[in-house]
Amino acid sequence: MIRFCPLFSGSSGNCAFVSDGKTRILIDAGRSGIQIEEALKQIGEDPKDLNAILVTHEHSDHIKGVGILSRRFNLPVYASQATWQAMPAGVGTIPPGMRRMFNVGEDFYIGHLGVDSFSIPHDAVDPCGYRLWSGQASVSVLTDLGYIPPSVMDAVSGSSLMLLESNYDPDMLRSNEHYRYALKQRILSRKGHLSNQDCAEGILRFMELGTRYFILGHLSGENNTPETAMRTNTGVLALEGVKDGVDVHLSMAWRDHVSDLFELKEN
Ligand SMILES: [Zn+2]
Ligand SMILES: [Zn+2]
Repeated sequence: MIRFCPLFSGSSGNCAFVSDGKTRILIDAGRSGIQIEEALKQIGEDPKDLNAILVTHEHSDHIKGVGILSRRFNLPVYASQATWQAMPAGVGTIPPGMRRMFNVGEDFYIGHLGVDSFSIPHDAVDPCGYRLWSGQASVSVLTDLGYIPPSVMDAVSGSSLMLLESNYDPDMLRSNEHYRYALKQRILSRKGHLSNQDCAEGILRFMELGTRYFILGHLSGENNTPETAMRTNTGVLALEGVKDGVDVHLSMAWRDHVSDLFELKEN
């Protein structure tokens, strides 16, 4: 069994909860410690019962609360060596015994939860995605990537559930007067983020590999809305004859509050 819940998702902070009922893990902690503790309580979880934090990359929307939660609850933090070196001082002191290091691409266990890590194309030093599994059930977290290379397809193939980036609407991004040209180019690049269209095309490919449940996540606050993301995704899927709620199940990971809690059975 796997329980999965995006607590926060978006450019203003990311944090997802995963558990097999015994081991409890956060993937990223990009909000304040207090906000994450409150969100955990809302899904009936006690922050004191957490076992670890997995870090995807050093951008502040993924690590803001890592230090405070690690110190407050004695939590081991897992990140690659390069990511550890790149994490800004804002994370604060993390007790040496709580620093866990791995090479992206390695698989390991935390308790009985299997953790697969894999490289993703993004403008951070050593960014990665994760697939967590227990028996036959698995969930993948795939946000902050400019495109979906074949190596990522392989790494998440057959996941029961996926949190997949649907970051921006290209028209909203291009017409956004608050964004400098360089920032727009960064977001649009192959080391930036997935657009709503990219997300839908990803869903079509992941469906062929067996995934049926998708949570749209890491939405931009300025260059997207939940309605636009959902409408674009379902529209692209419909053109291929794929119906939401029948052939595939889409839901939304919210920026500022807790999203649906999923429970995946082993078979
Ligand atoms: Zn991010
Ligand atoms: Zn990022």
